[in-house]
Amino acid sequence: MEHLPEKTIRQQIIDLLEKGDHSVRDISKAIGVREKEIFGHLEHIHLSMKNRREKLRISPYSCQACGFIFENRKKFTRPSRCPQCKKARIDAAMYHIE
Ligand SMILES: [Zn+2]
Repeated sequence: MEHLPEKTIRQQIIDLLEKGDHSVRDISKAIGVREKEIFGHLEHIHLSMKNRREKLRISPYSCQACGFIFENRKKFTRPSRCPQCKKARIDAAMYHIE
């Protein structure tokens, strides 16, 4: 089997998320990959698991100021500000696989 670096990173992320909830920052710290790169991997994991028994579960971003929850956000990147109160204090989304 081929061992592309990208594959290894993706598998490391999957292994991590199977153990429980992690934010992108947690993943970044655990496997030493920049946060910016992780969003793409998450997107791919999300799509590749669509038709499988295992799924990527997402606890969405939320606003620290007013509690707004970004439930319908399609993108994995952090929202810059809250659409409701316009503040920029956003709690990280968490991911796990089950
Ligand atoms: Zn808000």
